[in-house]
Amino acid sequence: MTSTSAKRLIPEHLCARCGACVPACPHGVLALDAELFPFYARESACTECRRCLAVCPGVAVDFRAPAADRADVHPLLGAYRDVWQACSRDAAIRERASSGGAVTALISEGLRAGALDAVLAVTMRPGDPTRAAYAVLTDPAEAERSGQAKYQIAHLAEVLPEIRRHERVAVVGLPCHIHALRKFEALEPDLGRCIAVRLGTFCNGVCEREGTLYLLRRLGVRPESVRHLEYRRGPWPGVLWVEHDGGAPVAIRRDVYGALLYLYLAERCLYCIDLTAEQADLSFGDAKWANARGDGRWSHLIVRTQRGAEFLARIGSGLELRSAAPADIVREQAYQFDFKKRRAFLRLRHRRPVPEYALVEATAPSGGRLREALFMGAYRSRRIIRAGLAAVPPGLLWWLSRRLFGRIRRHPPDSSGVSSPAGPVAPGG
Ligand SMILES: Cc1cc2nc3c(=O)[nH]c(=O)nc-3n(C[C@H](O)[C@H](O)[C@H](O)COP(=O)(O)OP(=O)(O)OC[C@H]3O[C@@H](n4cnc5c(N)ncnc54)[C@H](O)[C@@H]3O)c2cc1C
Ligand code: SF4
Ligand code: SF4
Ligand code: SF4
Repeated sequence: MTSTSAKRLIPEHLCARCGACVPACPHGVLALDAELFPFYARESACTECRRCLAVCPGVAVDFRAPAADRADVHPLLGAYRDVWQACSRDAAIRERASSGGAVTALISEGLRAGALDAVLAVTMRPGDPTRAAYAVLTDPAEAERSGQAKYQIAHLAEVLPEIRRHERVAVVGLPCHIHALRKFEALEPDLGRCIAVRLGTFCNGVCEREGTLYLLRRLGVRPESVRHLEYRRGPWPGVLWVEHDGGAPVAIRRDVYGALLYLYLAERCLYCIDLTAEQADLSFGDAKWANARGDGRWSHLIVRTQRGAEFLARIGSGLELRSAAPADIVREQAYQFDFKKRRAFLRLRHRRPVPEYALVEATAPSGGRLREALFMGAYRSRRIIRAGLAAVPPGLLWWLSRRLFGRIRRHPPDSSGVSSPAGPVAPGG
């Protein structure tokens, strides 16, 4: 249901659109609108119990909270026990993943070995392949197909209540999903007892679904005609790959379309200070340098909790591991840490209200002001930039993107198997 006039639960810029507040309400007061913002659908039934706000990661996150069973605390990575690079031993899983397929390998093996009886993970919605959505996966083969990042907001509202129907559930999510989950578990410990492990992926920001629809429009593809969409298909870093009824598949390199998607960055991400899913049991990121070197395909893996370490020891036989250090991640993701651990604090100074963060150590940002001013100038002008780009013919847009950010892939990724006889069409011809 869409409701732009209905009263929203919290200010838009605070809301991560995780959906946790909806099932937290015992009276069915809240619903999500078309943009996934919660609003009062039945305000008269509200008893002001504030359970919705108790689970909300948009208004507050206590970064000290589940640190009790952890070993070291790194100022940028949070608490951790071990740091590895990991990849699935199964080539098909690696090929189908964002990085090394470590997440997919663990959830599919967990289901196969009986250590898990369900996984909450994000897939493209059956029947609407342009929409990312959480699903409850119980079949290892289904879990194997769930890999890859989907650059869209996905909410937990429908799947959270499903956790109670199972006994050993893994939840995969972005840092804000894991914050919401932790808060939900604190509110409803019986639900928490059904959670076997929390798997968080790194996240430097997510985009409105409109960003994907924009790319489709510029590719000349009608969203209704899309049969299959993947964001990271083929050799790392992969391409946005679209199969549709209107002709041959189309593809754009990740490094070209990623920059355009930034024009659709969700506002809450500006005020988010968690890059590496600090409240997860196991966190996974893209080992970009290793992957760019063509050194196989690898995920960063941060083991944070006893529970994470035990899960890895029990289920990790499908992973190849090589040792790594926090400094490897910090050097490689310098831009992302600057965005989240320094410049986000500059943004927080100039916005009201802001989320309440209880931190292990107070952060005192310095530097980065010029970069930040340029970034925020572009972000605030994003609607004007989008309107300007709308006037740029597709061919010129891709040429500019290619010159500035990469080049458009004119050939199908090696792992294809579904490309049309004519092969994919380069955007704009
Ligand atoms: C929006 C977004 C931003 C990211 N930003 C960074 C970054 O800045 N730096 C970095 O190193 N890594 C980032 N990642 C993580 C990276 O893309 C990989 O997910 C990570 O390296 C793990 O790779 P893998 O091959 O082990 O995972 P895979 O085996 O490919 O599994 C990926 C898992 O991610 C989950 N997932 C996909 N999309 C979403 C979504 N929208 N919401 C919630 N869960 C989702 C799926 O359920 C799937 O199980 C980001 C991911 C996303 C979705
Ligand atoms: S305050 Fe309580 S009753 Fe009202 S919307 Fe929130 S959870 Fe529901
Ligand atoms: S719980 Fe999630 S969806 Fe609900 S208000 Fe908070 S951030 Fe937004
Ligand atoms: S940056 Fe990522 S984790 Fe943070 S609010 Fe945005 S989507 Fe959630």
